[in-house]
Amino acid sequence: MSITQKLSTLRLPPLPTIGEIIKLYKLKAEKQLSQNFLLDLRLTDKIVRRAGNLKDAYVCEVGPGPGGITRSLINAGVADLLVVEKDTRFIPGLMMLNEASMGKVRIVHGDILTYKMDRAFPGHLKKQWEDDVPNVHIIGNLPFNVSTPLIIKWLEHVANRSGPFVYGRTQMTLTFQKEVAERMTASTGGRQRSRLSIMCQYLCNVKNCFTIPGSAFVPKPEVDVGVVQFTPLIQPQIEQPFKLVEKVVRSVFQFRGKYCHHGVANLFPEEHRLKLTEKLLMLADVDPTRRPYELSMSHFRDLCNVYRQLCDQDPNLFSYNFREELRLKKLHRISHKTS
Ligand code: SAM
Repeated sequence: MSITQKLSTLRLPPLPTIGEIIKLYKLKAEKQLSQNFLLDLRLTDKIVRRAGNLKDAYVCEVGPGPGGITRSLINAGVADLLVVEKDTRFIPGLMMLNEASMGKVRIVHGDILTYKMDRAFPGHLKKQWEDDVPNVHIIGNLPFNVSTPLIIKWLEHVANRSGPFVYGRTQMTLTFQKEVAERMTASTGGRQRSRLSIMCQYLCNVKNCFTIPGSAFVPKPEVDVGVVQFTPLIQPQIEQPFKLVEKVVRSVFQFRGKYCHHGVANLFPEEHRLKLTEKLLMLADVDPTRRPYELSMSHFRDLCNVYRQLCDQDPNLFSYNFREELRLKKLHRISHKTS
């Protein structure tokens, strides 16, 4: 067997357990960083299995912490494992895993929200967008306060084929609070249908793989956790710029329980609001008395396409911000009262 073959079938030698690592390096979970660790390697193996066949894969793990998922990834036979961890206290334990895996772990001490992944892996891994998914994966159990902004950022990268998606349709397997995972995968009319459902599903095939009870984590969070897998679509369901889709979807869902025309109206300045709201809904063929959660992906696609036409006709329209108008009005009222 060649050295390369031997390395790719390598399993970790006996190591201290994750619990022992936590004690050894005094890794008390930091509340501010919302740290909840997975100590049960059967669970971390299960997460890694859901990411697909990772033998010889190139993987970025976000927030490895004491290294439970990291061990499962090494045991799955990955070729290269880049870990991005913000908390210095975990670095020595990760260095130990690097030694035990004969140098497979590349450790970045940094913040995943600012880390640039477009040059993290060798260029030969790049695939055309229309091809099969590349042999590059992202996986992680992140704190909830990081995972939601992070997925929005990565969805924008999917739309622009930038960041981790310069390699093609890189798959991501990430954890979220169970309710957030349900929102991401909710279908039209569903109780959890929300802004996140549209933003995730217009760009990706989203699978809510399984739920991990909160009791499996140390310390135990208040909530259960959903493992979600994202595979970017070859053809997005809405073909408009990400920021435009985000604006339309955010406005429509502003009043989730009310008729959708209330939210749509916020896209337009007061003086033309009524006329343009009617025009947009009519041209997009959307019934104004539907609730936002009853609108399908094709309704959102048509709303975005018609809104784009209106923005092309009036170049100032896209920069209109409803909240800013409210803020200015309030300031005006205050200055009027005090003068
Ligand atoms: N993956 C480990 C596990 O499953 O046991 C740890 C999970 S813990 C919920 C989240 C980890 O992400 C912690 O190690 C924390 O320090 C790290 N983290 C938090 N914010 C981060 C950020 N912005 N960038 C990178 N790592 C971060």
